Amino acid sequence: METSYPVVIIGAGMAGLTCAHYLSQSGVSCLVLEAADAVGGRIRTDLVDGFRLDRGFQILLTAYPETQRLLDYSALRLGKFRSGAAIRHDNNFIEIADPRREPQFIWESIKAPVGSLVDKMRLLKLMADVAGTNTTTRDYFEGDDQTTIAYLKEKGCSDQMIDTFFRPFFGGIFLEDDLITSSNFFRFVFRQFYDGEAALPASGMQAIPEQVAAGLPAGSLRLNTRVSGIDGQVVHLENGETIKAEHLVLATDARSADRLLGLSSSHVFNKTVCTYFVADRSPHPQRLLLLNPEVSSVVHHVGILTDVVPTYAPEGKTLISVSTQGPGLDSPGLASQGLSNNDVSEGAIRSVLRNWFGDEVQEWRYLKTYHVEDALVRYGAGSKPVELRLREGLYRCGDYTAYPSLNAAMLTGRQVAEMIVTG
Ligand SMILES: Cc1cc2nc3c(=O)[nH]c(=O)nc-3n(C[C@H](O)[C@H](O)[C@H](O)COP(=O)(O)OP(=O)(O)OC[C@H]3O[C@@H](n4cnc5c(N)ncnc54)[C@H](O)[C@@H]3O)c2cc1C
Repeated sequence: METSYPVVIIGAGMAGLTCAHYLSQSGVSCLVLEAADAVGGRIRTDLVDGFRLDRGFQILLTAYPETQRLLDYSALRLGKFRSGAAIRHDNNFIEIADPRREPQFIWESIKAPVGSLVDKMRLLKLMADVAGTNTTTRDYFEGDDQTTIAYLKEKGCSDQMIDTFFRPFFGGIFLEDDLITSSNFFRFVFRQFYDGEAALPASGMQAIPEQVAAGLPAGSLRLNTRVSGIDGQVVHLENGETIKAEHLVLATDARSADRLLGLSSSHVFNKTVCTYFVADRSPHPQRLLLLNPEVSSVVHHVGILTDVVPTYAPEGKTLISVSTQGPGLDSPGLASQGLSNNDVSEGAIRSVLRNWFGDEVQEWRYLKTYHVEDALVRYGAGSKPVELRLREGLYRCGDYTAYPSLNAAMLTGRQVAEMIVTG
């Protein structure tokens, strides 16, 4: 028998859940269909031997307008990274901190061999340009753009400043080190770091989608339910069932949306690999992300997660995540130098980190590796948001419809809900 709903949402990632939240708040009943065994999409956390392993290193930027609007931060019990980074340089770490929050570090930051004094003055000017104005999220994405690397050079940043700070830091966010990502997205992310903090929920990143899902009316979410196709307003499930919807929302990842729409997919994805280790003590207990400016290394950045959120591990244990950029020859920058970071083996990572932290790395226990192939849709210069309303009664939302971020997933989910409610 065919059932019928006012709204059916396909996908319980952050876009679908946010859409369902705002619809329910407006009194519109909906059904969310999710293929996986839990909500979250690309924001999932596995519990392995008492350790909380996010499926790929990921952070919540607390200044995101959409997360501020919807999430209860105190219930998430956020642990926060210090704002700044520790950069691997000359067999040592150079720590740079945000002088507005840690004025005691001003002198260290000025002396740090990350760019010249002129560079640091330019960085302050860049901060003032990007963050000083009262700009809305939409403003960041409506202006003309260029690649991030071209933008930084235009702003006068030296190659040294770019290579030691911007490339490893923002490359880790864009998941590409050539910095070909749109300068509009760079400016937006830079603003989020300026206004807020990088945080992790006490029980892992999946707590974010779970919090939104927990607020939905009972019976509005079906897990382990894959949609095999859509035909007009009819949804076909893999189990043979059909469901009719007055309004149908595709809140899937880019590839699945194209498949359901019968389109050939032209999206290019940035990928990453995340490898987890367990130690008996923190090798750098500063609550700073450790960045490696050497782009061909198998170690791109290291997060010592339990320094930020002790509940990511059983008591007394230190959980360390190592991110590998790429990997492989996807990066034109690496390829042009004949370089590759293809060998993401536990051994290859250990040998880099042994140079950083010494022999104690040999004692670390290897836990697990996540290869995240379709992590982020590549968002190059000239990228534009796509239409969320495909036709009467058919909509789409998700990060790929705007820009590659949790904020965009939630924003587009809310926008579709508003379109449905206002008609
Ligand atoms: C490793 C990694 C690091 C990241 N780091 C950050 C970060 O630090 N900060 C940040 O803001 N963003 C980050 N992101 C991006 C952020 O996670 C995403 O932008 C966001 O989660 C996308 O949500 P979404 O709802 O648009 O899509 P998704 O999370 O992909 O959700 C789509 C859902 O649709 C379901 N689905 C697909 N097809 C079907 C079907 N046929 N039937 C039923 N269900 C279906 C999928 O199972 C999935 O649950 C990162 C992503 C990754 C992978």
